[in-house]
Amino acid sequence: MPMVSQSCGVLPRVDLQRLLDALSAEGYRVVGPTVREGSVVWETISSVSELPIGWRDQQEPGRYRLEQTGSQELFGVVHGPQSLKPFVFAPREPLLQITRRQDGFTTSPTLPQPERVAVIGARACDLAGLVIQDRIFMNETYRDPYYATRREGLFVIAVNCTRALATCFCASMETGPRAQRGYDLAVTEVDEQLLVESGSEAGRDILSTILVPAASDELISAAASSIHACAQSQIRRLDHSRLPQALYEAHEHPRWDDVAGRCLACTNCTMVCPTCFCHTVEETPDLSHQHAAHARLWDSCFTQEHGYIHGKNIRPTIKDRYRMWLTHKLASWIDQFGTSGCVGCGRCITWCPVGIDVTEELSALLTPDVQPPLALQHKDGP
Ligand code: SF4
Ligand code: SF4
Repeated sequence: MPMVSQSCGVLPRVDLQRLLDALSAEGYRVVGPTVREGSVVWETISSVSELPIGWRDQQEPGRYRLEQTGSQELFGVVHGPQSLKPFVFAPREPLLQITRRQDGFTTSPTLPQPERVAVIGARACDLAGLVIQDRIFMNETYRDPYYATRREGLFVIAVNCTRALATCFCASMETGPRAQRGYDLAVTEVDEQLLVESGSEAGRDILSTILVPAASDELISAAASSIHACAQSQIRRLDHSRLPQALYEAHEHPRWDDVAGRCLACTNCTMVCPTCFCHTVEETPDLSHQHAAHARLWDSCFTQEHGYIHGKNIRPTIKDRYRMWLTHKLASWIDQFGTSGCVGCGRCITWCPVGIDVTEELSALLTPDVQPPLALQHKDGP
């Protein structure tokens, strides 16, 4: 059987450990999805047995449940609350150490230690989110050294989705369910087999070290059919054909009051979103007041503090903040970055405690608010 040195090989499911071992031998810390407290989170793993074997997730607005099927499926869980964001844009990043001197103060940057991290199990929507974060933190005019240090050490093994959640709408956003770019390896689980494709030089190198046989045309075709069926099965979609303009025109729509009456401003949607990048900075002095740590922390446009600028809160109400979030995400993001700020992962729908659904809200906002003519409104009045 010919061995693969090019881009597409097959690995029996029971042999995935060889890939993890090859990555460890190359100095990578391998991270994969693991079951913890009723959800799936990223953890450092050394063995395939730590993956959520046989588990599947069911997600609906405001609801996340794991169930054990008893199968040997490795990647039956689509995703947990975390995307790839925490690997590159750390939730809390020390930026500077500040030291007081007699004539002022000095600062020294606290760049993260370079580390090789291989993440197995990222989904197409996560990769699409990573591409957006790259554009924000590593663009032509500014390259964030903290983000860049983490990004350079990242090796991504994507898993193409063959099962859609009730909350997924990546097909309508054209970001999935097949990983399109930004991965080093992409895996499609087809029964007992893993179709493995390389997407980078580093991916090809790892694949060549484990000598996987070339994939058959039947396996490649079965994988493509499963991914296509996954796209077809998505029950949610987001119609972005009239964006951004239609959302700008909906600025005074009464639906904003309706959603503001349900939103708790809890910030969950922004924490789980792969593309949200709002942050704040914080100084933590030591007890001697001679040193202070200057750190960057994730923040959210749903907090009171985030809208506070120069003695005034520019978004005092929840309506202001929800409108800001949705309009930025789906409209002004397009003007700013040339792409939607939503990749259709559905996490904000699942992890919203009151089940606010971004696809439903947009649909309502783009439906003209038909008020009855004044004469009719007062027909039965005094
Ligand atoms: S807005 Fe919601 S569905 Fe869109 S990328 Fe963010 S979390 Fe995912
Ligand atoms: S998760 Fe839901 S309730 Fe919380 S801020 Fe977002 S939309 Fe509002």
